[in-house]
Amino acid sequence: MAAKLMVVTGSREWPDDAEVEMTIDVEVPDLVLHGNARGADRMAETAARRRGMATLPMPADWKSHDPDWCRCDDPLTAKFCKQAGHRRNWDMVLKAKEVEAAGWDVVVHAFWFDGSRGTENMVKSCIDAGLRVVVHRHERSS
Ligand SMILES: [Zn+2]
Repeated sequence: MAAKLMVVTGSREWPDDAEVEMTIDVEVPDLVLHGNARGADRMAETAARRRGMATLPMPADWKSHDPDWCRCDDPLTAKFCKQAGHRRNWDMVLKAKEVEAAGWDVVVHAFWFDGSRGTENMVKSCIDAGLRVVVHRHERSS
């Protein structure tokens, strides 16, 4: 059986720890790739570690203004690059495709809270890249 990579992407406000845990228990991945943000990413990191699974956090590099991505008004004075999260998400797509090309089974789980644009864009990028994507949704309740 092929090794399995589970990619986790999602909102910082994702409220449902149990759904992340349950998803990991259903997938039983060999490796969990995530963006190391607060919310769904960290929930996945904790859940995977608790189960002895390997994780690969890919944090966004907020401090560098990659000229291919940056759209900051003034990169010389801007403390954080607004495109860093987007750039990191694309790096995750490339990593997932690379792992898939090496013969792994790859599945993306997106934990999408309250219509977050970042998660929506990532889901689109993953689908465009031909990755298998499962979307979990929660809306803000009040
Ligand atoms: Zn920038």
